[in-house]
Amino acid sequence: MSNATTETIETLLQEARSFPPSPAFAAQANVGDPAIYDEAAKDPIAWWEGWAKQLDWFEPWHTACEFKAPNAKWFLGGKLNATYNCVDRHAAGARKNKTAIIWEGEPGDVRTYTFAELKDEVSRAANALKSLGIGKGDVVCVYMPMVPELAIVMLACARIGAPHSVVFGGFSAESLQERTNDASAKVIITADGGWRRGKVIPLKQIVDDAMTMGCPSVEKVIVLDRIGDGKANMQPGRDVWWHDLVPKQSADCPCETMESEDLLYILYTSGSTGKPKGIIHTTGGYMTGVLATSKLVFDLKENDIHFCTADCGWVTGHSYIVYGPLANGTTVLMYEGAPDTPDKDRFWRLVEKHRATILYTAPTAIRAFMKWGDEYPDRCDLSSLRLLGSVGEPINPEAWIWYQQTIGKGRCPVVDTWWQTETGAIMITPLPGTTATKPGSATRPFPGISAAVLNDEGQDLTAAWQPGQEIGGYLVIDKPWPSMTRGILNDPERFAKTYWSRFPGKYFPGDGAKMDADGYYWLLGRVDDIMLVAGHNISTMEVESALVDHPAVAEAAVIGRTHELKGQAIAAFVILRAGHESTPTLVDELKGHVAHKIGALARPDDIFISAELPKTRSGKIMRRLLRDVAEGRALGDTTTLADPAVVQALKDKYESTES
Ligand code: ATP
Ligand code: MG
Repeated sequence: MSNATTETIETLLQEARSFPPSPAFAAQANVGDPAIYDEAAKDPIAWWEGWAKQLDWFEPWHTACEFKAPNAKWFLGGKLNATYNCVDRHAAGARKNKTAIIWEGEPGDVRTYTFAELKDEVSRAANALKSLGIGKGDVVCVYMPMVPELAIVMLACARIGAPHSVVFGGFSAESLQERTNDASAKVIITADGGWRRGKVIPLKQIVDDAMTMGCPSVEKVIVLDRIGDGKANMQPGRDVWWHDLVPKQSADCPCETMESEDLLYILYTSGSTGKPKGIIHTTGGYMTGVLATSKLVFDLKENDIHFCTADCGWVTGHSYIVYGPLANGTTVLMYEGAPDTPDKDRFWRLVEKHRATILYTAPTAIRAFMKWGDEYPDRCDLSSLRLLGSVGEPINPEAWIWYQQTIGKGRCPVVDTWWQTETGAIMITPLPGTTATKPGSATRPFPGISAAVLNDEGQDLTAAWQPGQEIGGYLVIDKPWPSMTRGILNDPERFAKTYWSRFPGKYFPGDGAKMDADGYYWLLGRVDDIMLVAGHNISTMEVESALVDHPAVAEAAVIGRTHELKGQAIAAFVILRAGHESTPTLVDELKGHVAHKIGALARPDDIFISAELPKTRSGKIMRRLLRDVAEGRALGDTTTLADPAVVQALKDKYESTES
């Protein structure tokens, strides 16, 4: 939108449906009164201090917040340990024998750990790292499948003050090498393999390839035996089996005393928009943010079983499988594999078997479930569920409704949570016991978070907003918050430029947003994706949602392609639902449907029916590559794509259809 000639994003797609919390849910909710918003806004720093006090500190802080954009520090002088808060304090008290982790592998193997058992396992793994010379400040690269040892390793690192850098187990050797070297990791912890759709992902082989390409900082590779065939091409002197190293360690390992601002971890962003950034998070502020948001957004209660389907390779797994729920003493359910193995009901089987009460997943998964059909959830008992969450992309209203009806049976509140790797914790979200939800809207900033919508000139449109008015523009966060990233590893300039230069002094996440007549936020996707058609800013997200609203459409990706007269023309890539065929009549009907839902302005110029869409490994649609396809350019960086073949095939097909 940098070339925008108009001031703001047009507000187009209308959505009138609204769902207040049910009286039954509201009555038992952690937050049932909207007064919490005003209370937090009165003194956000004091509000966050209240949450920080719910952590255990070895020494209290003397200064709650020091902020001079782009640098923030929270709880200065305070000393604590993240693992102590997630594990030890529960293991030492009434939650000792409570289950901390329930894990199910893709082949169906199940393991559980109580908080006491988790403390022992984490301590052994921490001592194992120490025995290899790893200590405070040494970076540990983690390249593992979704097994309990992945969470154990993260907590072991935090226990001894060694920042972890978890690299999603689907990344290639090049990506692993790049991330390992950028972080100067001293150790890589991996496994012989992991299960995905019944096949073994050869993780150790990929580590070997990365090492061959060159990871000069890495001294040791620890290998977990996940597959059990004993084949891992172990290199004497460098590689060591987990089972030879960890079990023999003492289960006694004191928690390192960490300064609030000591580094907790490094995590590379998904790479939807370009070269991944090594986002850093520190200890006290991050733990405060994830503790508070987990407790209020997911309405956590002592008996909850929290099932977050993300991989620990993404921030969602860091904040809402490991640190947030465990800091609250909540039982988490972890799953290793694919949602369609052995059948398309796997998530529902997991919910049924382990009696999950909360499900937190992504729109990409929800759209896949819709495409597969209702028979899969319908044949499972989902009655244990009481709350549903969504994260990662804007959720199309039709997908939201399906989730709420078919999975939640109209009974469970749906929380659409907007946040980023950089924000550390959820930022814009309903509070399920008090916020009336609207399909497609992330509703309101979390208490203590101050957001605004600005126009091109940086004027705060929200400050002048009046009930009944609709506005759209650039989303910013204009006050510091505890879990905000402290920067991009090794690149303070890129940090200042990417997030803090567009609107000086304010954090600009890169996303567009509108505020509706009720003051609700609607996330419109990345501003780079917003189209400028004949002088009007149109959000790709809204056109996609209008397409997904049509019964023939399973999924849609929309981009603006350069157009001589209009500036940009709207091109849509559409996946049809089972039973529908691509015909010229259908294409016309879809164009008409968008025009009807939004207005003639948003009528797509081209609709291209496709079998698949290019997605990041975390499942997000990569629109920049579709722009390359539609504009006949060579494809940009594809290293973070889940399957680079998809976009190449799409490009070939697109070009042959064009000519
Ligand atoms: P990169 O920064 O490398 O391009 P990425 O932005 O996809 O990758 P993440 O930090 O995982 O990496 O994702 C954050 C982004 O995901 C947000 O900026 C936003 O665009 C999108 N997003 C996440 N949750 C939501 C949501 N509930 N609604 C709308 N968009 C969302
Ligand atoms: Mg991003």
